[in-house]
Amino acid sequence: MSAVPPPSAVDGVDVAALHRWLDARRPQLVDDLVAYAELETPSDDLALLKKGLAHVEEWLAERLGPPVGRAHHESGEHGDVVVLEYAGTGDRPLTLLAHYDTVWSAGTLDGWPVRVDGDRVSGPGVFDMKAGLVQAAWAVRALRAADVPHPPLRLLLNGDEEVGSRFSRPLIEQACADAAAVLVFEASADGALKTGRKGVGIFEVAARGVEAHAGLDPESGASAVDEIARVVLQLHAASDSAAGTTVNVGVVRGGTRSNVVAGTAHADVDVRVRSVAAQDHIDALLQRLTPHDPRAEVAVRGGWNRPVMEPNAAISSVFALASRAAEQLGVELRETSVGGASDGNFAAAMGLPVLDGLGAVGGGAHARHEHVTVTGMVERSAVAAAVIAAFR
Ligand SMILES: [Zn+2]
Repeated sequence: MSAVPPPSAVDGVDVAALHRWLDARRPQLVDDLVAYAELETPSDDLALLKKGLAHVEEWLAERLGPPVGRAHHESGEHGDVVVLEYAGTGDRPLTLLAHYDTVWSAGTLDGWPVRVDGDRVSGPGVFDMKAGLVQAAWAVRALRAADVPHPPLRLLLNGDEEVGSRFSRPLIEQACADAAAVLVFEASADGALKTGRKGVGIFEVAARGVEAHAGLDPESGASAVDEIARVVLQLHAASDSAAGTTVNVGVVRGGTRSNVVAGTAHADVDVRVRSVAAQDHIDALLQRLTPHDPRAEVAVRGGWNRPVMEPNAAISSVFALASRAAEQLGVELRETSVGGASDGNFAAAMGLPVLDGLGAVGGGAHARHEHVTVTGMVERSAVAAAVIAAFR
């Protein structure tokens, strides 16, 4: 049975009043974003990540008070993961996902400082996804100010999202396991919420052959390069643009010299799929790979870095709440499926109701024109507040 309340659950929440309260605090939302974005948090800089995370925790304590629960998981290699619990009514928590790492290297701010220009805030990481976390915190503040109860909240701060969430994945899954729903404050796609995300597979195919002199004794050799070449053709043939499947062998290595039948060869493969069926299809294809020459061996390593988030009824039901909340503001909320993956993919693969892209309105993720609108921050914060309140 779905834990998601019907869309009418937001009707009892005065979204316009929440919006007015937030709108009156625009300068504070902007200040919070600027202070956060002025701390660089590149995924590969442990010292900066620690500093950034400390700032976030301190700021959250100021805005929301001390959490009733806190778990700190030391990563060692990338950013740490912190899970904060906030008390609420009811027994099932709502899990809120945010990552504080960015793709921007240390020193980016020197040439590209955070800038507020009217309704627009630009700077490294503002759209992906520092504004999203600011909006989430202010959504909770707005509910409290209006005396609207909310369910217990579990906020996960992730520090390795931009490098594949390898450390954080089990922690994310643990934080989502008993949740009524999962809200992901990643940026919107041109304002649209993300109800579908492609799955991303990273594989390596390794072929082992038999080395031999290419001129004197070619028959006794089995070429690993020949095996990999056949694999590349089979894999690329599995690309299907209509189905949204892309298979790209981006790197091929193999052999030692032109006059030696190659003993080893490798291919690095990136796969993107839009559906579970396509994911299964690729898995089956990879399992079926066999050497053309029986003396050779072909082995596949790797797996799905991010399982597919396929639009489904559970996801639609949370989107319906957001959509109904936005209607109260006269805003027609759109939904879309995107190629990029997020931590929302992990939660979706567990069969949970997930709403992703609930964060900033703006553009330029991973690009030099990265920016958000303050109007969007206020609007989406109010919508998020209503969605959160619907689970009370
Ligand atoms: Zn992101």
